[in-house]
Amino acid sequence: MWRSLFAFAGRMVPERCVICGKVLAPGGCADPPVCAGSCRQITPPDGVLCPVCGVPLSHAVGPCSRCTRSGYAFEFHRSLSLYRGRVRDLIIEMKFHRRRRVVLCFVEPISNLVAGIEADAIVPVPPSRSGRRRRGFDHVKNIARRVSRERNIQFLPLLRRGRAPVQKTLNFTARLANMGAAIRVCAVLPGSARRVILVDDVFTTGATMSACAAALKQRGALEVFAVSLAMEP
Ligand SMILES: [Zn+2]
Ligand SMILES: [Zn+2]
Repeated sequence: MWRSLFAFAGRMVPERCVICGKVLAPGGCADPPVCAGSCRQITPPDGVLCPVCGVPLSHAVGPCSRCTRSGYAFEFHRSLSLYRGRVRDLIIEMKFHRRRRVVLCFVEPISNLVAGIEADAIVPVPPSRSGRRRRGFDHVKNIARRVSRERNIQFLPLLRRGRAPVQKTLNFTARLANMGAAIRVCAVLPGSARRVILVDDVFTTGATMSACAAALKQRGALEVFAVSLAMEP
């Protein structure tokens, strides 16, 4: 009896938006614990963007100095937003506070972002083993799968990540070599998957996505288009 009383009391406490604290409409179990307003506050990077990595440029023509140095293996990268403000809050809720349902905030925006890209497969960037263990779910895979359904493009979670040393202090070349050694393609790419959309959460130096793109190209992909939820400016 006590258990059912507690359960009843629990249902009486209104659920609040984890971002802005607003009380959510009751019965909205299918919705993320984020109000529609906070969910919509994903502002795209503005101004002139680097044609390769999508970072806003301080000068009028690209590519940016990072792309000139890096020579990425993907064709181009586009992000929903810079990694700051509400988007950063949403990503932190999902990644570090294990709010699974926040993935729903990103499905439609990513689906819209890839709408103009001619591709025949969607591949998620694999999580690190420790990240996956800590969260208990793979938010990138979850978003990529839902987007593949929306866009009617085949979903190919083919990449795996082995152990890679901690990267925070390494420069781009060392990160790329590290990631290149850690990324595996666990099956041959089907002949129908030559143009691939690669999905990740946060684009920092681009080393992870570049290593994934290189691995996919070694297995038969001709073009790889990278998209992420947010990017470091
Ligand atoms: Zn809110
Ligand atoms: Zn760039």
